[in-house]
Amino acid sequence: MNTAEPHDRVPAGSTDSGGGRRVDGDELVAYDRRHIWHPYAGALGDAPLFPVVSAAGVRLRLADGRELIDGMASWWSAIHGYNHPSLNAAARRQLDAMAHVMFGGLTHPPAVELARRLVDLTPKPLQRVFPADSGSVAVEVALKMALQYQRARGRDSRTRMLTVRGGYHGDTFAAMAICDPDGGMHSLWSGALPEQLFAPTPPSGFDRPITEDDTAALAELLTKHQDEVAAVVLEPIVQGTGGMRFHAPAYLRRVRELCDEAGVLLIADEIATGFGRTGAMFACDHAGIAPDILCVGKALTGGYLTMAATLCTDEIAETISRAHGAFMHGPTFMANPLAAAVAVASIDLLVSGPWQERVAALESGLRTGLAPARELPQVADVRVLGGIGVIELHEPVDMARVQPAFVERGVWIRPFGKLVYTMPPYVMGGADLAEVTGAMVDVVGTVHPAPGR
Ligand code: PMP
Repeated sequence: MNTAEPHDRVPAGSTDSGGGRRVDGDELVAYDRRHIWHPYAGALGDAPLFPVVSAAGVRLRLADGRELIDGMASWWSAIHGYNHPSLNAAARRQLDAMAHVMFGGLTHPPAVELARRLVDLTPKPLQRVFPADSGSVAVEVALKMALQYQRARGRDSRTRMLTVRGGYHGDTFAAMAICDPDGGMHSLWSGALPEQLFAPTPPSGFDRPITEDDTAALAELLTKHQDEVAAVVLEPIVQGTGGMRFHAPAYLRRVRELCDEAGVLLIADEIATGFGRTGAMFACDHAGIAPDILCVGKALTGGYLTMAATLCTDEIAETISRAHGAFMHGPTFMANPLAAAVAVASIDLLVSGPWQERVAALESGLRTGLAPARELPQVADVRVLGGIGVIELHEPVDMARVQPAFVERGVWIRPFGKLVYTMPPYVMGGADLAEVTGAMVDVVGTVHPAPGR
């Protein structure tokens, strides 16, 4: 219901949120700074903070009326853009039927329809779907599945994970333990986390030829710790939050072979890469391999609601179930019907549209638009794959200066560390994309100080 009073003048710092409610941006930010935690942020309220009141297509609207072209797709998730009529309609329809019901002993159409789509879309061996409430939880579920599977087979000593440096898998404790131990966001926790095994970062470059040397250290770790390792876990093709690095499909194929030779499971974390972002529906498709366990999230609901899923093979599901009767995990909001209904609509929208062409157009626009950054003294590397464009600097970004500079340019880009990167909604047109890449090159060149080298 629209309860707004009619007003013909928007007070300074205020605007209409789109639902008829007036929003005082300054008041919002003041209260937020005093009381609310933000992701990876301190509580002393000194970082730049911008109030958003609505979003449509590829644009975010700030409380003061400014519009920003969104280069982040809400951290890889809003692939169709904001306020999409089909996704809105799916949410409304489901809301009228039921927003939520427990999943223990009950099922519902959105869960079944979503599972059907995930089973059809992902590599063939993955036939079982565990709906989870966030990416981190999907990773926890995947690790628990691998452990329970090994235990079910009587291999009780296989309790460790082997992963690669430079990875990122989430913020819960088991997920943190497989994130990069040094450069990652969780080095604070060393000593408090289970000690997992780390092979070197995969060699950089999607097109790079792969030799035995590139996987030798991983192979050696697998041989040395064969009786301890339950699974190898990695982000296939793109290491996201751990450094936005790309590696070759041949590397992934070799890891699959090594897992088979050692009899350990392969867990692919496609929470960031899934649903077309790298130019293939799943990053594993570049290599033509199937993992034993797959995590998806982020773009699953088109960025509308929190939901993720862990898929596994029949063999894993049946082995666990025969030995232990049950897989011991079951969150309150498992398979939330509202999120599942939107996920179904998002997948249908994706597969019925020209997503390959759109991602290819993003790739070509990103290559052209970011190329001038290569000439800047601040820049160490520029790389593009599918709908992902990265400028890596020599020095960490000064967020207090860089973040407002992007907003002044009418673009939403959220750098971290040495990385200024974008993964736009797939629906972003060429002109908007050129604005985003132009702003990235300009802001990097003019705002960030050149290193003294
Ligand atoms: N795995 C990967 C590869 C991710 O990129 C992320 C999120 N950045 C996660 C797991 C964790 O997902 P969530 O933030 O939904 O918990």
